[in-house]
Amino acid sequence: MATEEVDVRRFSDRESSARVGRIPTPSGFPGLGDINSYLIFPEHDSDELILIDTGVRSDEAWLALCDGLKQLDCRVEDITKILLTHGHTDHYGQAYRIHELSGCELWAHENLWITVERMQPPPERLELELHFYELWGVDQELVDKALARRAGFAKTFQPMEPTHLLKDGEKIKIPGFDLETIHTPGHCPDEVIYWQAETQVIFSGDHLLPHITPVCLAQIPRSKDQPRPCSLMEYQASLSKVEPYPARVTYPSHGEPILDHRELIKSYNLSTDRRLLKISRILEKNDWMNPMEIGKELFPKAWQEQMVPVMSEILGHCDILEDGGYVAVEERDGVIHYRFLSTPPP
Ligand SMILES: [Zn+2]
Ligand SMILES: [Zn+2]
Repeated sequence: MATEEVDVRRFSDRESSARVGRIPTPSGFPGLGDINSYLIFPEHDSDELILIDTGVRSDEAWLALCDGLKQLDCRVEDITKILLTHGHTDHYGQAYRIHELSGCELWAHENLWITVERMQPPPERLELELHFYELWGVDQELVDKALARRAGFAKTFQPMEPTHLLKDGEKIKIPGFDLETIHTPGHCPDEVIYWQAETQVIFSGDHLLPHITPVCLAQIPRSKDQPRPCSLMEYQASLSKVEPYPARVTYPSHGEPILDHRELIKSYNLSTDRRLLKISRILEKNDWMNPMEIGKELFPKAWQEQMVPVMSEILGHCDILEDGGYVAVEERDGVIHYRFLSTPPP
């Protein structure tokens, strides 16, 4: 998931708007690199300074944020509001520390709690999660590794209570720079992007990223007998929702600005089609397979260290194959299995 690193800067009206600044801070996670926070500078007679996403809770990220703000002639104390694109630790982890110093508000989508709960699950949620790993055929050793990895992420996560919960379509009043909230579930249930109509700018969080396709994390249902939400299908619907916006520039949470979001969406759709075909071919050569077995074939290296992203990819694509009638699905000895029926169209 490595992206190219970017610098601290204030954009120009020619690029997008001089109201927008960018501060990258290190995530500290191998392969993830920096996370971009964006600033919306106040209009002349206003003192509202908005920060979109915070970076992780770590001393390195804190220093990078303070230094970036200084380069842009601001201070943490000046921040009046944090807007979150979603509740992952690289976007939300440092919120409390910023709030402590500035007393700022925090606005986020109303599904934020689902992502927070995933990071800090109460015992009954953890039990349910383990049940689903079993259902997907995941070895215990890989579950232990994934939980240890999450415990590492959790150390960089110090959330604050949201001040206001956003709904899809909600307008955020900012003098001279109103934003529209667009709910874009897929990567996670609380993901939103922000649209600025006059300057034709999208702040895309992890929904649109240059060079890499965002992982659509497999969700855990609220109970054992509830259907699992289909994250990749939700993501595709979100892409279709965002595609028509006439964006001049899209500012992602990782990497350089995206100049043509429609081209990017096209390339995402192509790579989904390619992966559907690959999984279909793997199933065609085998008999019944569980998601973990498919994952080991499709990602011969990544499955060992990245069980959750790998399972998410497999389940997301199998949902689409199942929905189109290209695979049969059956639970055998408490583990879900898929079997080839026909090849999806290219
Ligand atoms: Zn994320
Ligand atoms: Zn991120």
